Amino acid sequence: MDGMNVVGDLFGAGKMFLPQVVKSARVMKKAVAYLNPYIELEKVEGQSNGKILMVTVKGDVHDIGKNIVGVVLACNGFEVFDLGVMVSVEKILEAVKEHNIDIIGMSGLITPSLDEMVHNVKTFHREGLTIPAIIGGATCSKIHTAVKIAPHYPHGAIYIADASRAVPMVSKLVNNETRQATIDETYAEYDIMREKRLSQTKRKTIVSIEAARENRCKHDWENYTPFTPNVLGRQVFDDYPLEDLVERIDWIPFFRSWELHGHYPEILNDNVVGEEARKLFSDGKAMLDTIIKEKWLTAKGVIGLFPANTVNHDDIELYTDESRTTVEMTTHHLRMQLERVGNDNFCLADFVAPKDSGVADYMGGFAVTAGHGIDEHIARFEANHDDYNAIMLKCLADRLAEAFAERMHERVRKEFWGYAADEVLDNEALIRERYKGIRPAPGYPACPDHTEKGLLWDLLKPDETIDLNITESFAMYPTAAVSGWYFAHPKSRYFGVTNIGKDQVEDYAKRKGMSLAEAEKWLAPVLDYDPE
Ligand code: SAH
Repeated sequence: MDGMNVVGDLFGAGKMFLPQVVKSARVMKKAVAYLNPYIELEKVEGQSNGKILMVTVKGDVHDIGKNIVGVVLACNGFEVFDLGVMVSVEKILEAVKEHNIDIIGMSGLITPSLDEMVHNVKTFHREGLTIPAIIGGATCSKIHTAVKIAPHYPHGAIYIADASRAVPMVSKLVNNETRQATIDETYAEYDIMREKRLSQTKRKTIVSIEAARENRCKHDWENYTPFTPNVLGRQVFDDYPLEDLVERIDWIPFFRSWELHGHYPEILNDNVVGEEARKLFSDGKAMLDTIIKEKWLTAKGVIGLFPANTVNHDDIELYTDESRTTVEMTTHHLRMQLERVGNDNFCLADFVAPKDSGVADYMGGFAVTAGHGIDEHIARFEANHDDYNAIMLKCLADRLAEAFAERMHERVRKEFWGYAADEVLDNEALIRERYKGIRPAPGYPACPDHTEKGLLWDLLKPDETIDLNITESFAMYPTAAVSGWYFAHPKSRYFGVTNIGKDQVEDYAKRKGMSLAEAEKWLAPVLDYDPE
C-alpha cells in the first residue's frame, strides 16, 4: 500500500501514465483480496484517506471515466463506494448517510446528464448536505460546471478534467484545513468564467428563425436527381462478423480513453508516451484477437432507407413507400441561428429535397451495437479484481461499435443506397470524414436534441430487432452503440447547432407537440437565452 502511494504521487507528478497506474492497482487489489482474511480489517480501514461515492447519474450508462477515477482514487488510499450507473439522487442521499461519505463523485456522458447533475446538487442543498461534489465525464466541462451547476451548490461542485487531477483535488477537499480555501478559490475562478461567458454571449448576434431559414443551404432542386436506394426499407444484421470491423477501427479515441494524448499511429513512436502507447496497443490488440476468436461480443445492427421530403423548411417526412402518400414519421431538425455573413445557416433538413419541389428524395437511419455479451466478461474481470482488463474490454467494445457505424455507412454508400458505388477511401480518409453524405447522431452537434432518438427507435425498433435500448435520458444500452441518420446529398456536411433563440424553440416545441418548458429542458445545452 505504501508502494501505491508512490504510484499515486508519480502519476500526480506526470511521471507515470494511466495504464501503469491501473495495472499497479490490479496488483494491489489482488494482494489485498488475498491477504484480507489474514489481516485485521481495522488496520486497513484505519488507512482510509476519505470516503468517496462514485456514480453515473440517472438516465446515463457510461462508466469508463468513472471507473478510471475510482481506480486512481483507490490507489491513493481513498475508500471508493461505487454505486454503478443510472443512479438516482435518492440513492445517492441514502448512500451518503449510510457510509458517512466525504465527497460525492458524479459522472455522465450524454448532455441530459448535465441537467440531472443540476437537479442533484439542488437536491443535495435542499436536503442539507454540506459535503463537496466532484463532477466529471464528457457531458460536462469546467465552463458548464461554473455556469450551470456550481451556482446551485455552495459547498463545492467542482469539475475534474481527468484522472490525474482527481487525487490532488480530492485530497484538498477531504482535508478540513484546505477544503474551504480550495472551494473558495475554485468558485472565484468560476465567477470570472461566468462573467466572461456572459459578455461573450452578448457579443454574438443571433438572427430570427425566419431570417435563418432564408439563409439556409440552398440547392438547385430543379436540376437535382437523387439516387434511388438499391434497398429500401429496414434490414437487420443479427450477428455481424467482427473481423469485418477491425480494419475500420479509429484508434485515436482508444489512446485518449487511457489519457495518452497524441495522433495514432505517430503516438507509438512518441518520445514521451511512445513506450507506454506501444504496450497498451499490444494489450488492446491481443484482447481484440481473443474477443473475435472466442466470440466474446456479438455485433448487431439495423438500418433503414426511406422515401423522404422536407416540409416547412426544417422537418423531414419519411414515407412508408414510394407512393409518398402515407407519412411513417416526421423528424424535426434545428437550424443554426447565429448570424453567419457569407455562410449558410445550416439545418439537416436542407439536405433533403422539399416536398413542393416534386423531387423524390430519400433519407435513412441506423443503430448499431457491439456490446452484446460484454457483461459476463466484465463480471469475470471484476470478480478477479482486474480493472485493467475490464476497462480495456469496454474501450474495445466502444471502438468496435464506432467501427461498425463506419463500416455500415460505407456499405450504405456503396451497396444498400449505392450512391457512391465507386468510392475508394482508406481508413484514414474515412476518419477524416472524406466520404460523400453524412451520418449525424441525435445528441451530437448537428442534431443536439436527444429526444429525436426516440423517433429513430420508433422507426427502426432497435429494442425489438437487436435488443438495443434507450434510457429515459436517451442513453443507449448496451453502451457500446452508435445511432443516427443517413443523408446522401453531395453538399451534406457535419456542423454544429449552437445558440438557438426562443422563436425557434417555440416553433420547434409546437412542431414536436411538446410544451415550451419541456423543449427548453432538452435543448438547454444550446439555448441562447435563460429560460424563465
Ligand atoms: N471516428 C470517431 C467518430 C466519433 S464521432 C470514433 O471512432 O470515435 C461519433 C459519431 O457521431 C459519428 O459516427 C457520427 O454518427 C456522429 N457525428 C460526428 N460529428 C457529428 C456532428 N457534427 N453532428 C452530429 N453527429 C455527428
